[in-house]
Amino acid sequence: MEKYRKIGFKLTPQRIAILDYLEGNNEHPSAEDIYKAVSERFPTMSYATVYNTMDALAEKKCVVELNIDTHKKRFDPDVRPHNHLICTKCSQVVDVFEKYSLDIPKEQRQGFEITGNLIEFYGVCIKCKNGFPKKTKE
Ligand code: ZN
Ligand code: MN
Repeated sequence: MEKYRKIGFKLTPQRIAILDYLEGNNEHPSAEDIYKAVSERFPTMSYATVYNTMDALAEKKCVVELNIDTHKKRFDPDVRPHNHLICTKCSQVVDVFEKYSLDIPKEQRQGFEITGNLIEFYGVCIKCKNGFPKKTKE
């Protein structure tokens, strides 16, 4: 929690509960997922608090906002550069830390100096492929 204090991120008991839930979480939860999980232990938690906290964390670059799930925004507490695999059936998002070299031909860069890329792979996860889809959380 020290790192949050250092960057001037105000810590409240609600925010600490959210940060605890996010610590080491690689499920790429949505605000709804976070609210459901945290409000079980913290019944006074409101959805607005989760939403505002995630907004503030994203602004401080402590989480990454992902727009890969067309139904809802997802959050990634792992801010290291990495790519994702997305299951088109159950919306599971998996990390891929492999780097891929990808080049845009100079004549197509339209003057841009390229500084990075993020690659999203779409597919069907092993559970869905085997006919045991995780229920999509709505
Ligand atoms: Zn799946
Ligand atoms: Mn990720």
